[in-house]
Amino acid sequence: MSLLLVLEESGGKIKKTGWEALAAALKLGPAQEVTAVVLGAQTETLAAEAAAKGVGKVVRVEHPLLAHYTADGFLLVLEQLVREQRPKWVVFAHTYQVRDYAPALACKFGQVLIGDVIAIEDGPVFVRQLLQGRLTGTYRHSGNGPCFVSVQAGAFRADGATSGATAPIATFTPTIDATQIRTKPGEPFRAAAQTVDLGTAQRIVGVGRGIKEAENIPLVQALADALGAELAASRPICDNGWLPMERQVGSSGQNVAPRLYIAVGISGAIQHLVGMKGSQCIVAINKDPDAPIFEVADYGIVGDLFEVVPALTDAVKAAK
Ligand SMILES: Cc1cc2nc3c(=O)[nH]c(=O)nc-3n(C[C@H](O)[C@H](O)[C@H](O)COP(=O)(O)OP(=O)(O)OC[C@H]3O[C@@H](n4cnc5c(N)ncnc54)[C@H](O)[C@@H]3O)c2cc1C
Repeated sequence: MSLLLVLEESGGKIKKTGWEALAAALKLGPAQEVTAVVLGAQTETLAAEAAAKGVGKVVRVEHPLLAHYTADGFLLVLEQLVREQRPKWVVFAHTYQVRDYAPALACKFGQVLIGDVIAIEDGPVFVRQLLQGRLTGTYRHSGNGPCFVSVQAGAFRADGATSGATAPIATFTPTIDATQIRTKPGEPFRAAAQTVDLGTAQRIVGVGRGIKEAENIPLVQALADALGAELAASRPICDNGWLPMERQVGSSGQNVAPRLYIAVGISGAIQHLVGMKGSQCIVAINKDPDAPIFEVADYGIVGDLFEVVPALTDAVKAAK
C-alpha cells in the first residue's frame, strides 16, 4: 500500500481539513505508508508542518506557476506526481479546490473521485451520502489504477492524526509552462470576517424554531455561557435574522464537530443533521418524542425547553 495525502494551504498553514483527511488516510494503512503532498511556489514551512505529523514522507511539489491555485496547474503537476509515485490511494479533504480539479485528475487515470466520504469501513468500503443525506451509498474501489477519495469536513477527527518523529522531505519539480494554464487567478476569495469559528468550537448549543421568538434567545445564550459554549442555530433562526447567518449549522451553513452539541428545539431535519452529526456527544431537548433529532442523539430530554433549559443552566452553574 502507498498513499498520497494531498494537503491544502490557507494563510501559510495547512488547513485543518487536511489533518481530518490524514485521520481518514490512517484507516487505509499505517502512517509510514502515507506520503503528504504540499503544493506551491514556496512550500518549506508547509512541508515542515506536515513532516511533524507522523507521516512516512513529505513531498514538496514546487514551481513558480503554483504560486496561486489554478485547476490546470494542480491537475498537471499532480498527474505527474501520481504517475511517478504510483500510489494505491490518493486522499484529499473535500474542499472547493479539490472539487474543482480532483474529478479531472481521477479521470486522467480512468477513475472517478469517490467524493465527500463520511466514513471508511472495513474492506475498505467508502460511505457517502446521497440526496441531501436521505440515502447512504457504499463504494468499493475496483480495477487497476489509484483510487481517489475525498473526505467530508468534520467527518473524521483531526485529533486522531498522529504526531511523532519528523518525516523525511523530498522535492518534486514538475514540468509545466505558463501556456498550459488557461485561467488567470484573480484576488483570492476572502470570506467575510467571522466573529465566530463554529468549526473549531468544542461545545455548541444549537437553537431551533422551538424557541418561538427572538426575545427568547437569551434563554439559550445563558446555557451556552454557563457551558462556555458557542451559540449556533438552525436555518429558520438565521433566516429570521434572530442570529447572524455565520451561526447557521447545516448543509447551507457551517459543518461542526464539537465534543458536545446541545440541540434545543431543533427537529432534526436532514439539512441540519448533515452539519452536526459528526459531534462527539449530542444532547437533544425537544417536546416531541418522535422528533428525528432523537435518532442521532446520545442523550435525549423530552420536555418543554422553556422549563428544561433554565433548569439545565442552573445545574451547570451549580456544578461549577
Ligand atoms: C436547500 C435547503 C437547505 C437547507 N439548509 C439548512 C441548514 O443549513 N441548516 C438548517 O438547520 N436547516 C436547513 N434547511 C431547513 C431544514 O429543512 C429545516 O426546515 C430546518 O432545519 C428546521 O429547523 P428547526 O428544527 O429549527 O425547526 P422545526 O423543524 O420547525 O422544528 C422545531 C422543533 O422544536 C420543537 N419544539 C417546539 N416547541 C418546543 C418547546 N417548547 N420545547 C421543546 N421543543 C419544542 C418541535 O417539536 C420541533 O421538533 C434547509 C432546507 C433546504 C430546502
